[in-house]
Amino acid sequence: MAELLSGKAVAEALTERMKTDVAALKAKGVTPTLGIIRVGEKGPDISYEKGATKRCEEVGAAVKNYVLPEDATQEALLKTIAEANADRKVHGVLLFRPLPKHIDDNAARAALNPAKDVDGITDGSMAGIYSDSGAGYPPCTAESVIRILDHYKIDPAGKRVAVLGRSTVIGKPVSLLLLKKNGTVTICHSKTQNLEETVKAADIAVVAMGRALSVGKEYFRAGQYVIDVGVNPKPNGEKGTCGDVKFDEAEPVVAGISPVPGGVGAVTNACLVRPYLSAKRGSVSRALPVRVTLGTETALRT
Ligand code: NAP
Repeated sequence: MAELLSGKAVAEALTERMKTDVAALKAKGVTPTLGIIRVGEKGPDISYEKGATKRCEEVGAAVKNYVLPEDATQEALLKTIAEANADRKVHGVLLFRPLPKHIDDNAARAALNPAKDVDGITDGSMAGIYSDSGAGYPPCTAESVIRILDHYKIDPAGKRVAVLGRSTVIGKPVSLLLLKKNGTVTICHSKTQNLEETVKAADIAVVAMGRALSVGKEYFRAGQYVIDVGVNPKPNGEKGTCGDVKFDEAEPVVAGISPVPGGVGAVTNACLVRPYLSAKRGSVSRALPVRVTLGTETALRT
């Protein structure tokens, strides 16, 4: 039977650490604050916002909401982003995307200060991951994968790692983060040949294709660790979500596997609440004379 790589346990541990870090900042007169910019009233954005707000409240951080109507102009959005960038009391900014079609996504991303970009959407954040410069943040989902591996002491160093998917949000950044942890990373995509063979040869498989229950027992062998990033509607009109991996087939074979739901998704939400981390990275310390060192961030960045 495989070890269950529960995201809930990781999120809980992270939350406890964040409570301590936030309390330390508050003692120095800083209330870490996450700015949330939402355009329109889309259901998934609102539920994401609720989750992030709840988590912020739980750790003692604050939220500043910027809500624009669905028909807001690009100029209005850029002005709001500039306002959040300039607000010294806002330490991280979450901008919900996709944006309405009449707004240029690249212009919006470019307007956000990478130092406040908590979900790694700016080119500055992406460059930071590529160059190890420490600029910006990795996307929360990619970071969540690393946090799960760290929590369960699964060290990619020297291991063969297969990443299934090469999107900017997950596949590419997680591959670079795993490379940084000295994994030998193979990035797979829809044109990859012999996918099963590549995944089976890997010690760690990170599956992020967005193809419901498409990866079955033929991909796996004993001793592997599997992180299922997929969040898909269940096939056949069933209620709820499922991963990319056929959990029931993989679980009896592999050494460890993250479930869906209750895996990566559970950690993503906790990773969003990172404005307090800016204290170490500079934005809080630029705003106020405060500097703290945070173990979680160090683990990820060094
Ligand atoms: P995406 O942009 O659609 O990218 C999917 C990737 O998978 C692409 O690189 C694609 O290859 C590759 N792919 C698709 N079919 C394949 C196949 N048959 N064989 C090999 N590779 C294949 O999706 P995404 O945004 O990265 O999201 C991936 C999954 O993660 C989705 O289920 C999404 O809902 C989930 N997700 C989870 C969280 C979370 O918090 N847990 C957050 C965000 C997203 P090509 O590049 O060649 O097309």
